[in-house]
Amino acid sequence: MKTILVTGGVGYIGSHTVVALQENGYKVVILDNLCNSKAITLSNIQKISSQAPIFYQGDIRDRPMLRDIFKNHPIDGVIHFAGLKAVGESQSEPLKYYDNNVVGSITLLEEMIKAKVDTFVFSSSATVYGEPGATQYQEGMPTTPINVYGRTKLMVEEILRDGAKANPGLRVACLRYFNPVGAHLSGLIGENPVGTPNNLMPYIGQIALGILPKLKVFGSDYPTPDGTGLRDYIHVHDLAQGHLLALQYLEDHPGALTVNLGTGKPYSVLEMISAFEKVSGKSIPYDLVERRSGDLAEYYANSDLAKTVLGWEAKHGIERMCEDTWRFYRQLDSAQS
Ligand code: NAD
Ligand code: UDP
Repeated sequence: MKTILVTGGVGYIGSHTVVALQENGYKVVILDNLCNSKAITLSNIQKISSQAPIFYQGDIRDRPMLRDIFKNHPIDGVIHFAGLKAVGESQSEPLKYYDNNVVGSITLLEEMIKAKVDTFVFSSSATVYGEPGATQYQEGMPTTPINVYGRTKLMVEEILRDGAKANPGLRVACLRYFNPVGAHLSGLIGENPVGTPNNLMPYIGQIALGILPKLKVFGSDYPTPDGTGLRDYIHVHDLAQGHLLALQYLEDHPGALTVNLGTGKPYSVLEMISAFEKVSGKSIPYDLVERRSGDLAEYYANSDLAKTVLGWEAKHGIERMCEDTWRFYRQLDSAQS
C-alpha cells in the first residue's frame, strides 16, 4: 500500500482528494494548520471512507515537523494543496502570500528531497495565465499572472520545473485548476471556508441558507452574452480524480508535467445563479454591481493535454455541481441547528 502526504488535506479540494486516495487503496497522512479549514472535516472523511487519515496539525514551513513526518511514515509521494488563495488579500498582504505559498513550498520540497521522496503533485491555478491574449487557455501559452496569488503559483511551478531539470529522479505534476465547485455526493464534505466566502458558489450556498442576504454580481458590462463573467466551473470530484491519475502517470514518467484541469465549457454568473435556483428551489437575490478589480471577462480550459497524457476528462456538468453544493449546504445547516 502506498502512502501519500497530503498537505492542506483538511481543505476543500484536499479533503475530496484524500477520500479518492483512500478509496483507491492509498494510505494518507495529512499535514494542515487549519488556517482555512475545520477539524470536523477529518471525522467526515472517516465517515465516508471508513478510514481515519493520519493527521498532523502544523505548518508546511515547520521543518522539524516535516522531518518527523518523513521519518515516521513511508511516504511515497506528496500532494501539495496547502496554500492561501484569496486574490484580494494577496494584493494587500503580498509578503504573507510569498511566505506561505512560495517559502512553504520550497521548505516542503527540500525536506521531501532530503527524505528521498521523488513524487510531487502541485495545486496550481488557471490564474497563472493572466491575460495571454485568448480566452481558451492552453498550457503552452504565455504566463503573466495579474495578481500576487497567481505569481506565487507560477513561481512554485517554475521552482518545480527547475528542480526536476536539476534532479533527474524527480517527478512533478503542476495541475492548473479552473474553478472548482460542487461537493461530495454524501453531503459530508464541501467548500466551507473560514469567514465570508470570496468565491461565487459558497457565497450562493450561504444565501440559500439565509446566512448571507444578497449576492453582488461583479460586473454586468463584460463583452459576454449576458454581460457577466464567464468561468470554467469544474466539479471537485473530477478534480480529485485528476490527482489520482497524475500520481499514476508520474510512476512511469520522471520529469515535469504541467496540465490544465477544466471542462472546456464556460458558464456566466447569471447562468450559475439560475442553475442553483433550479436545483435548490431557493431564490438567490442579487444586485448587479461594479466589476471586481482584477477579474477577467472570460476564460476556460483547453484540457486536451489532460485527456491525452492522463486519460482524464471532466464527467460532471453544471446541474450535478449545483445539486451536490446544495446537498452539502443543507446538511451543514441541519448539523448546526
Ligand atoms: P482551502 O483553503 O480549502 O484548502 C487549503 C488548506 O491548506 C486549508 O485546509 C488550510 O488550512 C491549509 N493551509 C494553508 N496554508 C497552510 C500552511 N502554511 N501549512 C499547513 N496548512 C496550510 O483551499 P482549496 O480550495 O482546497 O485549495 C487547495 C489548493 O488549490 C490551494 O493551494 C489553492 O491555491 C489551489 N487552487 C484552488 C482553487 C479554488 O478555486 N479553490 C483554484 C485553483 C487552485
Ligand atoms: N463573482 C460574483 N460575486 C461574488 C463572487 C464571484 O459575481 O460574490 C463572480 C466573479 O466576478 C467571477 C465568477 O463569479 O466572474 C467566479 O468568481 P470566483 O471568485 O468564484 O472565482 P475566480 O474566477 O475569481 O477564481
